[in-house]
Amino acid sequence: MTPLTDIERLSLQALEARPPREAGLGREIHRPSQEALEDNYRNILAFVGEDPNREGLLRTPHRVAESLKFLTSGYGQNVETLLNGAIFHEDYDDMVVVKDIEFYSLCEHHMLPFFGKAHVAYIPKGKIVGLSKIPRLVDMFARRLQVQERMTTQIAEALETALQPKGVAIVVEGVHMCMRMRGVEKQESSMVTSHVMGTFRTDRATRQEFMALVKGNGRI
Ligand SMILES: [Zn+2]
Repeated sequence: MTPLTDIERLSLQALEARPPREAGLGREIHRPSQEALEDNYRNILAFVGEDPNREGLLRTPHRVAESLKFLTSGYGQNVETLLNGAIFHEDYDDMVVVKDIEFYSLCEHHMLPFFGKAHVAYIPKGKIVGLSKIPRLVDMFARRLQVQERMTTQIAEALETALQPKGVAIVVEGVHMCMRMRGVEKQESSMVTSHVMGTFRTDRATRQEFMALVKGNGRI
């Protein structure tokens, strides 16, 4: 195991220091207590015509608050801590692909779930990352309020910054409950986003090899 050099550590910190668009552009935000949040959920229950004091609903505001904390726990994580100790110097320079990484996220427009699979690849340039860290990186960005496009780019950029590889490619397939349950109610539609960097962008054959590897997955 080779520890991160100062430069590597700095570039990871730089990535984390960028204005978090998803967290309000760095503005001071008053964070209410969990008690206040649970009161809000009691209001929501009353708003939809329920009795918040009905036996079955008594602990619902607490459960929803706890669940929301888990579903947004990615805000409490950062790339540096997540990957720390899991980046190794290695001469391997063929494509590394991690396919079918399940993810569950919340769309920032409706706070409804969107979920699906991410396929991530990179071509190392002297550094590799422990394989289990790639799904954890996906989880970290998924467990925030997101749009699928931004989540896709963030995962790719985090890998790019952490490993400075020859290339990074990612394809994300997601189904959005805000489309399926409401609005246009398109039951079968799914969304595919991708982001390619380095060799995957400049070399068509490499890109095609990756796309062929991730193709042929069943629909979500
Ligand atoms: Zn939505």
